[in-house]
Amino acid sequence: MLDIKITKTETPKEKPQGPLGFGKIFTDHMFVMDYTEGKGWHDARIVPFANFSFSPASMVFHYGQEMFEGLKAYRGADGKSYLFRPDMNAKRTNATNERLCIPHLPEEDFVQAVSAIVKMDEDWIPTEEGTSLYIRPFIIATDAFLGVAPSKTYKFIIILSPSGAYYASGLAPVGIWIEDDFVRAVRGGVGYTKTGGNYASSLAAQVKAHDAGYSQVLWLDGVERKYIEEVGAMNIFFKINGTVVTPMLNGSILPGITRDSVLHLCKSWGIPTEERKISVDELIEAQKSGALEEVFGTGTAAVISPVGKLRYKDDVMTIGDGGIGTLSQKLYDTVTGIQTGKLEDNFGWRLSVE
Ligand SMILES: *Cc1c(COP(=O)(O)O)cnc(C)c1O
Repeated sequence: MLDIKITKTETPKEKPQGPLGFGKIFTDHMFVMDYTEGKGWHDARIVPFANFSFSPASMVFHYGQEMFEGLKAYRGADGKSYLFRPDMNAKRTNATNERLCIPHLPEEDFVQAVSAIVKMDEDWIPTEEGTSLYIRPFIIATDAFLGVAPSKTYKFIIILSPSGAYYASGLAPVGIWIEDDFVRAVRGGVGYTKTGGNYASSLAAQVKAHDAGYSQVLWLDGVERKYIEEVGAMNIFFKINGTVVTPMLNGSILPGITRDSVLHLCKSWGIPTEERKISVDELIEAQKSGALEEVFGTGTAAVISPVGKLRYKDDVMTIGDGGIGTLSQKLYDTVTGIQTGKLEDNFGWRLSVE
């Protein structure tokens, strides 16, 4: 158990009025904990949200030794605050840390820290339909040293941001650009970790896709550019001839918690699922023959993101009638229903924040 020291702000901010958007508004407090080699993690604390002061030589600024996570807190109809599978974020934190030579963070400490900061700023959890409190835990390397080596000191920080509904006017289909030039990750690399570098390297393709009128990039494998991997910050699913298919976890794909939840739900409903390689050619074939029934992305931010249109080179494929698939809608309603306490939690995924 962490012994968390609490310093309350003396100048609480006004709660936001009007649309929240995403990631621009921050709550009154943050969680901070330090790591020092030989001493381990220490000085767990909740303090007023404020700027930090760092040496310009801090390692994170130069070689990107950092990790992050993303999850949400929801306000239930019963007035309680809920987290969704935070133990999975704790496990993934350590999978990332191990790859990036960041020290192990005990899973129970991660969950305790997230719960404590959410409890502290609980009255910042928005209550309108589709809104939530976005939680951003991250770890940065803080040694003031320009040599390339694992840092000996780190900071673990958690900040909170009240967020609006991802789809301002209800669930809506997106257009996706299948990138045939740039790649995101290769096996043996860091594709399965949540680290900033993966995002820095994705920006050029994202700009290209946006300029062409598409909202997200779908990545192909880094070697042959032939197999489907995932979308910018979402995993991807295809319903082909009644079977739900998603790329298998191969080391270059991020193991999404929403992905895992969707697989569990489909199985529990008796829908056949497959985790395997899917080539872009197979996808084009399935679309031409009419076997491709639905496409949707999964991730914490949007939960389920129906795909209405896919572009690959000169091919523009409309999925179904370009609208929201029946399964996509059912998954969205079920996952958000479990998250907010509207539906029964048969899998034990919901954690009430005490
Ligand atoms: C975070 C993330 C996802 C989605 O993971 P969830 O746990 O479902 O939010 C998918 N792909 C990438 C690259 C990500 O960073």
